[in-house]
Amino acid sequence: MSENTVQSKAKLPVAIIGAGPVGLAAAAHLVTRGESFVLFDAGNAVGASVLKWAHVRLFSQWKFNVDKAARQLLTSHGWIAPNHSELPTGFEMVENYFKPFAELPEHESDCCEPQRHK
Ligand SMILES: Cc1cc2nc3c(=O)[nH]c(=O)nc-3n(C[C@H](O)[C@H](O)[C@H](O)COP(=O)(O)OP(=O)(O)OC[C@H]3O[C@@H](n4cnc5c(N)ncnc54)[C@H](O)[C@@H]3O)c2cc1C
Repeated sequence: MSENTVQSKAKLPVAIIGAGPVGLAAAAHLVTRGESFVLFDAGNAVGASVLKWAHVRLFSQWKFNVDKAARQLLTSHGWIAPNHSELPTGFEMVENYFKPFAELPEHESDCCEPQRHK
């Protein structure tokens, strides 16, 4: 591998497959580290899998559902965290966490209008 190839690969963004809670948390940590990324998802929007069971209430309280780096980014933009001890539905997770995170200006070009990928 030539030195040029190594250098150009070093500049490539990180590919994240899946805009669920884990992919979004990965995005948050990359933002925190100043790394660029591209988010791919088979669905049309963030939280596509969670929205399949939107009506179901989680068994985990909000405080366990929000990634630490994502929480810091959201809070710095005025996000009001949901009540820590409440149990959200899947829909509430997407509306009150995934979507606000996707709309943060930090990643307007990288996240979170998922690139279609099957
Ligand atoms: C009814 C129900 C209730 C739950 N309640 C809780 C709870 O209370 N507490 C808890 O901790 N966990 C709970 N879970 C589990 C939790 O939802 C999962 O652990 C979590 O969603 C996993 O996150 P993820 O980002 O890895 O995957 P997902 O949320 O499944 O997201 C994966 C994303 O990747 C996309 N994708 C999949 N394959 C591809 C592909 N090949 N290419 C591109 N994109 C792809 C999907 O469209 C999706 O958007 C529950 C699950 C269910 C079904």
